[in-house]
Amino acid sequence: MIQLYIPLNFLGVIYREIKQALADMERLFGLLDQNREVADAPGAQPLVTKGAQVAFSHVEFSYETKRQILFDVDFAIPAGTTTAVVGHSGSGKSTLSRLLFRFYDVNKGAISIDGQDIRNVTQASLRSAIGIVPQDTVLFNDTIEYNIAYGRPGASREDIVAAARAASIHEFIESLPDGYATMVGERGLKLSGGEKQRVAIARTLLKNPAILIFDEATSALDSKSEQAIQAQLKEIARNRTTLVIAHRLSTIADAQQIIVLDHGKIVERGTHQSLLAARGLYAQMWERQLARPDEELASPPLELQG
Ligand code: ADP
Ligand code: MG
Repeated sequence: MIQLYIPLNFLGVIYREIKQALADMERLFGLLDQNREVADAPGAQPLVTKGAQVAFSHVEFSYETKRQILFDVDFAIPAGTTTAVVGHSGSGKSTLSRLLFRFYDVNKGAISIDGQDIRNVTQASLRSAIGIVPQDTVLFNDTIEYNIAYGRPGASREDIVAAARAASIHEFIESLPDGYATMVGERGLKLSGGEKQRVAIARTLLKNPAILIFDEATSALDSKSEQAIQAQLKEIARNRTTLVIAHRLSTIADAQQIIVLDHGKIVERGTHQSLLAARGLYAQMWERQLARPDEELASPPLELQG
């Protein structure tokens, strides 16, 4: 009896462990399942860009089944032009950029680049065609050179320096004791918000993508740095298809097209002038920012919240 008891007990332990492992697997597959759609389609082809027109066609999207985030979002960014998206916090602006980069697939409708549905092209080719200058640039715990070269692995030192110069960060880098070999990131030299953003700009310049996404948030910067960075962003956006998520309306007044998103729906579109003339939500937001220039569109007025 005793001899049997031990192995059975042992089996019991194993059984419990296997059961737990299966439960973990289930959870793991559940997680994988959520992102199951974001994989290369069988026979996916590399994206071929000629000008890179971007089109969102009747896009519907939800992160979770219960709450829809985007409703029938339909717009195009003509090749080589800039479209800005404005709207209160939570209206779905950043979701547009995540969908274009294909972190998630749309539930209905389609996103295409030069007529190619992004679900039918390889993810590698899609992601190399798009450069993102994000709200918060996360630097790797590595040298500043590595952090810039990340935009194009294998880039030459000359190209890296040229990109750093164009992003107005070369002189700063040269002033550091270890220059381009200076370790940055959490465990290295901590760069300011403006410096990190310049590294991101240099990285993007080096990548030289056909499509740009700026999720602007320059509130952390003093107004002199902000103006300098805005000027640089405009320069790199010239002749590239660009999606700008604007927090400060003054920075996008000259965009060829402005889309106003409200609770996941496009409620207005036009140029700065035509939207002001329409006296709708954009005109209201503009008035509000004129009155309080330091404020971003971070949160809706209290009466609109909820
Ligand atoms: P915006 O950039 O306009 O502030 P977002 O596109 O980030 O808005 O978010 C739109 C809505 O989607 C918000 O209500 C937000 O809470 C929700 N959301 C964003 N990311 C996720 C996520 N990963 N899972 C679930 N909901 C999300
Ligand atoms: Mg956002």
